Amino acid sequence: MNIILLGPPGAGKGTQAKLLEDTRGMKQLSTGDMLRAEISGQTPLGIKVKAIMDSGALVSDEIVIEMISNRIEQADCAQGFILDGFPRTVPQAEALDKMLAAKGKKLGAVIQLVVDENALLARIEKRASESTTVRADDNADALRKRLAVYNEQTAPIIPYYEGKKMLKKVDGMAAVNIVSEQIDKILG
Ligand code: ADP
Repeated sequence: MNIILLGPPGAGKGTQAKLLEDTRGMKQLSTGDMLRAEISGQTPLGIKVKAIMDSGALVSDEIVIEMISNRIEQADCAQGFILDGFPRTVPQAEALDKMLAAKGKKLGAVIQLVVDENALLARIEKRASESTTVRADDNADALRKRLAVYNEQTAPIIPYYEGKKMLKKVDGMAAVNIVSEQIDKILG
């Protein structure tokens, strides 16, 4: 099955995606991870997007749409993929629908991790303190920007998928294993 995990920065999308990789053999496709790999590889794309990402703003729809379109065709996505961090704007959601239709693929579910915004800063600070490679955008200013961008540009995709009767909400404030049980139930 192909799914989308949706939620603000720090909601736990990456954690749940990793669990689904282990239990179901699905492939996590994180546009943030892909872009960070371009930056550390100092590719032309990485050089182009670095300042934008570090500030907490979004890179252009075109860039991520093309990345995902190529990626989902690869063999490791055959058991299903988990979109983590994509789509992040309504135009990206529309482009995803078109590309899936063109490739004869389908979305099985869109799962929203519902979290209390006040908890997010603490979660991201914890992530930054536990990680050896601190993300350039895991600081208070960039995080504030990322949350604002989420509310302005990404939250509108929630009604988009509600309208298609695809949206499932999960309590993202629960413990990791409880969240993953809820997701398991949805996926069946
Ligand atoms: P988080 O989930 O913690 O917000 P991500 O790792 O998903 O962070 O993304 C980090 C940054 O990568 C974003 O702030 C943005 O600059 C860029 N990015 C990732 N995915 C997208 C996307 N779908 N569209 C535009 N920019 C993106």
